[in-house]
Amino acid sequence: MIVTTIVQSRSRDHWAVVRIKNDSVIGVVADCKGATKEEALGKYREHLLSHWRAYTVNDEQHKCKVCGEWTSTYAKVGLFSTLHWLCSAHLSDNEVAKLFELPVNFEIFES
Ligand SMILES: [Zn+2]
Repeated sequence: MIVTTIVQSRSRDHWAVVRIKNDSVIGVVADCKGATKEEALGKYREHLLSHWRAYTVNDEQHKCKVCGEWTSTYAKVGLFSTLHWLCSAHLSDNEVAKLFELPVNFEIFES
C-alpha cells in the first residue's frame, strides 16, 4: 500500500507532499516542498492541475458545473475522486483550476 500525503520534516523546517510505503517515505512528489504547509500544497496543486484529464461516459448526462448545460464529460484531477462535470465550452485548464480544491489534510491510497 502506497499513501500520498503531506508531512512536516522531522527537523520541522519544511513541509512536503510525499509517497509513503510501509511507514517509510519513498519520495517527494514532483519536488512539492515548501517552508510552510500551504506552500508545499500550492506546488502540489499546480502539479496536479498540469495533469488533469477528461473522460466521457456513454450513458449518463450531468449538468455542467459552470453553465448547467447537459454534458457527458468530466474532468478528474490526479487520484482525487471528485468528478468535475463540464460541457465542451467549459472544459478548460482555467475552469478546472477554479473548481479543484485540494483537501488540507489528505491521504491518497494506491493499490
Ligand atoms: Zn458549461
